Amino acid sequence: MEKMLSLHFLFAVILFTITVYGNTENTSTREKYKVIIVGAGISGMGAATRLLSNNFSDITILEASNRLGGRVYTAPFGDYLIEYGAQWVHGQGGNPVYEIAEPYNFLYIQNWEIIKGFVKHSDSKLNISVVSSWLFDEVGDIFYNKNDMMLCNCSVEHYFTNKFNELIKNNNIDQYTAQAVADYATKYQRIQDGVSNLDEEGSWGSVQHFQYNGSLSVAWKTGYHSFINMLMGKYKGKELPVEQKTKFNKVVQTISWTGNEVKICCEDGSHYFADHVIVTVSLGVLKVLAKTMFNPSLPDNKLAAIESLGFDVVDKIYIQFETRWWPLDFEYRLNFLWSDEDKQRFKNESKYGGWTTEVVDFHFVENQPRVLEGWVIGDTARLMETLSNDELTGAVTELFNWFVSNEYSISKPINITRSTWGSNRFIHGSYSFRTVKSDRLGYSAANILAEPLLFNQTNPVVLFAGEATNDKSFATVHGALETGWREATRILSF
Ligand SMILES: Cc1cc2nc3c(=O)[nH]c(=O)nc-3n(C[C@H](O)[C@H](O)[C@H](O)COP(=O)(O)OP(=O)(O)OC[C@H]3O[C@@H](n4cnc5c(N)ncnc54)[C@H](O)[C@@H]3O)c2cc1C
Repeated sequence: MEKMLSLHFLFAVILFTITVYGNTENTSTREKYKVIIVGAGISGMGAATRLLSNNFSDITILEASNRLGGRVYTAPFGDYLIEYGAQWVHGQGGNPVYEIAEPYNFLYIQNWEIIKGFVKHSDSKLNISVVSSWLFDEVGDIFYNKNDMMLCNCSVEHYFTNKFNELIKNNNIDQYTAQAVADYATKYQRIQDGVSNLDEEGSWGSVQHFQYNGSLSVAWKTGYHSFINMLMGKYKGKELPVEQKTKFNKVVQTISWTGNEVKICCEDGSHYFADHVIVTVSLGVLKVLAKTMFNPSLPDNKLAAIESLGFDVVDKIYIQFETRWWPLDFEYRLNFLWSDEDKQRFKNESKYGGWTTEVVDFHFVENQPRVLEGWVIGDTARLMETLSNDELTGAVTELFNWFVSNEYSISKPINITRSTWGSNRFIHGSYSFRTVKSDRLGYSAANILAEPLLFNQTNPVVLFAGEATNDKSFATVHGALETGWREATRILSF
């Protein structure tokens, strides 16, 4: 009888809790903030530092990985540091990253040009005297002619092919050599723009990219990681508590909002509430999760913008040798020029499937006397990410042997590493680009992707930042920073 009574009592307590709170959640343990930022990349950190420096401290950052920085990722390797992600500050005057960093004397300008003397080829049928004269500059200029690109309003491939054919016709360049130059130039451009297939890239949208004045290749003496410290005010002796405000290993699964409150649930079962959430995950993550992450679901035009903007994979490979085998005057890069025939020969003989024909170059790394860095894109990058270190070392060594073993005695590779941005489920790619589809639909990142979701038409409850939401400086660190600032300011001025 006594047992029966206590069971009744327990049941009554549970019923009371459910009635009063509507669910089993206890409001005293409810973790609520004014602002939650999803993602501690540069845009998330930009938003956090702007809020904190305006005495707006009721915030938290939920970061899926175990570190700050996102696609800014400096790591020790070889004799110094390497950058798995962002490497250069693109532009000086007006560029906020440059302006924050410049007083600290951590930057230097890299003389980044194609060193014509180091174009490597292994096909005697190529007319290399043409290649190593003015041609690279002329071909490079095709991509810099913004007016023509904008007027074309077509795919970058279409635009380039027309201009390139005109160029080789007017200058009587043989087709065999021209094909190799086009292969090199388009590969180079694809990596720069982060696009596997230039057919997909929109010429109109790609020239919307704004370039700040000055050098596009300002490098870090101390690694891009220094910028993270600068943002937090570490070198000023007045550090903002960004790290303390960040909860690491918190993978946000759903963002639900009713009225002016947001509930954010994480994969580990934890959940948090906020008045405003700033979502800074990459376009790659949005492409995979946008349809399931938000409740109510995102408006159709935002989903269409996410779908139509481009996000591909660009990866880097770093290889360390026992000793430096390239000459000291090998300043910056070793460019590989492939004729179609040579490429086919290499593929037939390759032990590794010949994917390295897609590596545009390997170049010198500052403060790394024994390390070379190469870049790959698209399916080649995705494949490269799956290889073992031995397979990767074998494939890269095979490439060097093909091009330069007759000139240099290549020393033993002793270490190798690579980025894995494609298979990183918290990024799903590298940087955003404008597609023919987004150009045609008129979905610009600024007016659709960046638009906040409002309560009562005025209260920004769900806000969006991240490089892809920057209409003019997408695909960059400074672009990401500007968007974090933009959304923090939106909340501060609400
Ligand atoms: C190989 C490479 C080279 C580059 N080179 C340059 C360069 O030289 N110069 C330049 O200016 N830019 C460069 N960039 C681009 C630049 O790195 C990015 O534009 C910028 O860092 C993006 O910052 P972000 O804050 O928008 O996004 P991210 O850095 O992607 O930050 C988003 C954060 O959200 C987190 N996240 C994702 N999903 C979740 C989730 N579900 N829950 C919680 N957190 C989540 C991620 O872990 C990440 O930390 C390069 C990028 C790559 C990949």
